[in-house]
Amino acid sequence: MFKKLQFKVILVLVSFIILVLTVVGIILISNIFNYYTSEFLGQQEEVFTKSFQNELSLLLETDDPALQLKNALNAHSARMGIDSYRNYYVLTSDGEYMSGSTDRESADIRMTENLLSAISGESSHIQSAGNKVMDYATVIPSSNDFIIVYVVDSKEEMNEFSMMVFSILIQSLLVGLVLALILSLILSNAITAPIQNITKKATSVAEGNFDEKLAVHSNDEIGTLTSTFNKMAEDLESTMREISGERQKLETIFYYLNDAVIAFDSDGRLLHINPTAKELFAEFVDTMSLDKLIDELDLESLSESVHSNSDHDALIINNVNYKSNVFDISFGKLRFDLSDGVFGGYITVLHDITEHFELEKSRREFIANVSHELGTPLTSIKGAAETIATNPDMPEEIQASFLQMVIGESDRMSHIVKELLVISRLDNKRMMWNPSSFSLSDLLTHCIEVVRGEADNCGHTLSLTLPTDTVPSVEADREKVEQVLLNLIQNAIKYTQSNGKIDVSLEFLKTHSTATLPNGDWFCIKVSDNGTGIPEDDIPHIFERFYRVEKARSSDKGGTGLGLAIAKEIALEHGGDIEIESTVGVGTTFTVYLPCKAKYIQ
Ligand code: ADP
Repeated sequence: MFKKLQFKVILVLVSFIILVLTVVGIILISNIFNYYTSEFLGQQEEVFTKSFQNELSLLLETDDPALQLKNALNAHSARMGIDSYRNYYVLTSDGEYMSGSTDRESADIRMTENLLSAISGESSHIQSAGNKVMDYATVIPSSNDFIIVYVVDSKEEMNEFSMMVFSILIQSLLVGLVLALILSLILSNAITAPIQNITKKATSVAEGNFDEKLAVHSNDEIGTLTSTFNKMAEDLESTMREISGERQKLETIFYYLNDAVIAFDSDGRLLHINPTAKELFAEFVDTMSLDKLIDELDLESLSESVHSNSDHDALIINNVNYKSNVFDISFGKLRFDLSDGVFGGYITVLHDITEHFELEKSRREFIANVSHELGTPLTSIKGAAETIATNPDMPEEIQASFLQMVIGESDRMSHIVKELLVISRLDNKRMMWNPSSFSLSDLLTHCIEVVRGEADNCGHTLSLTLPTDTVPSVEADREKVEQVLLNLIQNAIKYTQSNGKIDVSLEFLKTHSTATLPNGDWFCIKVSDNGTGIPEDDIPHIFERFYRVEKARSSDKGGTGLGLAIAKEIALEHGGDIEIESTVGVGTTFTVYLPCKAKYIQ
């Protein structure tokens, strides 16, 4: 562009110089011709007046008219401008030489238009640029004939002068061209240097370098262009910054999103995949494509949507099982209008709803369990009441046993309702905690006393091991902790065959930690038995609500499956935990960890 512009400036200036000089040349040359012609005619007309023609006419009557005429004309030769380029001739009416300013041999007489006209008897002095000579033919009549006085100018002087002017013009043209060349170089440099700078800057802006600014040296159009360019670069930089900020924001959101997000182009090739999706589809992330994803997730409806022609399809597929998790999958077809055309693609978002799904499942199970647990005693109560009502003559002892059953089932119902209330309060964080400082050793001693009778009835040996050193008091809700400990000890009594062995112990562990508890000081209460034990598969579920290992056995023993769930929640609310170790046929150990101060105490 730069070279082209320089060439154009040179071309324009050179053309201008040539044009000007050509026009000037043409005007000058035509003026020279006009000047010489009018000068020539003026001189001749001044000489060849009517009276001079009459005078010459009279001389024709003399003895030697040729000589007489020559002498008369010689007298006026200066006025006629006779010199080496211009001569006069006296010619007969046939155009034959009679006399003249040169002798007959050197006379240059051509049959011009004027001369031919004179031979026919008419004076003529027409001048035209195409004629080789300027001539003036005057007819001088005599008594019976006429002669011609013919003045002819070879135009050599005019041509020499014209040539001189022409050579001056050529010289001027050459000087002009050199000057034009120099000027155009200076001018084109003055124009192209800033343009070159702007071009360089534009290239560096295109490469993303916005640092440098162009210096504005003038107030002219180039200066305006430079400052406009600087402003444009500034605007572009801030726009780019905004766009890249927005992009970073989106990328960060995309990166930290817990949902798996995968984008594909219109041919189903992978465009983008976030870390969650990478982790989920780790085995085939390198070969990921839309078809592969559909295959892997076994989604027929998604496949149909992909291959349908509708422009903006959004599809949500709920509860898709994949790798033991449950997902809601949103699928969208995308269309972006870009400068180079329309871009199409797909975006798939996998939202992990496993937790929500499990919660919903356990909520449904909980309601079913509650209905069942309350329904069973209610059926018994209704049955007993109906039996008594329809058999008024029933023997008293039988009636008493039915009433005893009604009381027993009512107690069981009220026990379940109480436990449900506790669970509901724990769930809704509405449990009223009643903290106090007390000795766990004392509490455990008290618990052992409470269950002693029960244990004795089963023939169990019940032992309590307390720390020999003095241990600090615990700050917790004594009643709730007692409920936890009693539940564990009573379970040990319940689920151990007669004559079993139940050991309860208390330890104070300083700077101790477990897999679930942080490092710190912990009270550790162990309740061990050598009872039936809990199968390995049941252990992970043992703290779930209504979970019982053997429903029949547990129901026989008045169990509801809520005790351990409540105990675990209470321990957790205190900032502690309950752990379990159990082997079928060997026994079970529950370990309760409690912090020195319950976490709900400020
Ligand atoms: P339940 O009221 O049925 O006793 P829990 O929540 O206290 O309810 O106990 C849940 C289940 O855990 C019991 O049904 C029982 O099957 C099992 N279990 C609890 N403690 C023991 C133990 N010490 N030995 C064996 N099984 C136990």
